[in-house]
Amino acid sequence: MKIHEYQGKELLQKFGVTVPRGIPAFTVDEAVKAAEQLGGSVWVVKAQIHAGGRGKGGGVKLARSIDEVRMLANEILGMQLVTHQTGPEGQKVRRLLVEEGADIQKEYYVGIVTDRATQRVCVMASSEGGMEIEEVAEKTPEKILKVFVDPTRGLTDEEAVGLARGIGVPEASADRAAAEFKKLYQVYWDTDASLAEINPLILEGNGNIKALDAKFNFDPNALFRHPDIVAYRDLDEEDPAEIEASKYDLAYIQLEGNIGCLVNGAGLAMATMDSIKLFGGEPANFLDVGGGATAEKVTEAFKIMLANKDVKAILVNIFGGIMRCDVIAEGVIAACRAVDLDVPLVVRMKGTNEQKGKQMLAESGLPIISADTMAEAATAVVAAAQ
Ligand code: ADP
Ligand code: MG
Repeated sequence: MKIHEYQGKELLQKFGVTVPRGIPAFTVDEAVKAAEQLGGSVWVVKAQIHAGGRGKGGGVKLARSIDEVRMLANEILGMQLVTHQTGPEGQKVRRLLVEEGADIQKEYYVGIVTDRATQRVCVMASSEGGMEIEEVAEKTPEKILKVFVDPTRGLTDEEAVGLARGIGVPEASADRAAAEFKKLYQVYWDTDASLAEINPLILEGNGNIKALDAKFNFDPNALFRHPDIVAYRDLDEEDPAEIEASKYDLAYIQLEGNIGCLVNGAGLAMATMDSIKLFGGEPANFLDVGGGATAEKVTEAFKIMLANKDVKAILVNIFGGIMRCDVIAEGVIAACRAVDLDVPLVVRMKGTNEQKGKQMLAESGLPIISADTMAEAATAVVAAAQ
């Protein structure tokens, strides 16, 4: 789950990370009020969307008067902001963050992710912070320093100071930078984040270190123990089909292709998408109905897949383990009737009560194409979609 920058900064502040003073705004008037309340003579008006690259896309602008704040807020609120992370259609800006302008001497980068290869939390830092970090990663990866943290000790003082010195933080500010790294690590750890990124982390004229941007992703499997983070959820930023799916506890990710797939189990879902591609097709979605695939769940899953007008055929690929094939067949039949299915449907079932399930499908009178092997199923659905 992603959150907005202003929410990320609220979280950072709770853990003692230094951030600029700022106030979120939902209207132009609120933005003006926020600037007045902050005082000073330089403000930054920042579009709040769940994507990075806002600066380059025109979503982060400097204002030198209250009138300019009003003008910029007017310009940015409601705009369709296109960045390298939004896709060509962009994302509509509904919220702003009005912040005091910071005195930037130098922009650094710090990011934290969980590294699957080492099974450790990886803290990355670079002297080359700012809006070009993707290019740095690609062309001069040696400029990104990494520490793989021992989970029993956490990020140590030595490691944190080593990173600060390694990216060239001036000696007088190295301890301050190290302290910010350690606090950021603590936020990451305590909130079950899967990504925490401060880009840029800046050095100010007075030697202070400050987080100027904040990007977080959280592990959805751990959200049950973080109601305060769940409260940050902004449904406007999420795919409507994925929101609908989450209501029914379905794991659904929309993709670009035209073959809908309904599968139980994430591993089988991956294998099914691979098979579709291997036989020349493109999956329209990842959809894992989970272990308890009831008729109601299967029906909702069909509705969600069919709401995607690109879907030209559907492949149901079910392994009947704990869930029996006849129960699945019942669900598929009920779902087909409930949604008036108008695209070809290929069903492959394996496992407990397979024969009974197949018989039910055959006797249902519905135009269901039955398949036995993965190859048969993929071939049939790719042909049906054409
Ligand atoms: P994004 O990463 O989405 O482009 P950032 O929050 O990193 O958005 O802002 C882009 C750039 O704008 C930063 O690299 C920084 O140079 C500048 N900037 C952002 N916030 C401030 C601020 N409060 N004061 C001064 N400059 C800022
Ligand atoms: Mg940034």
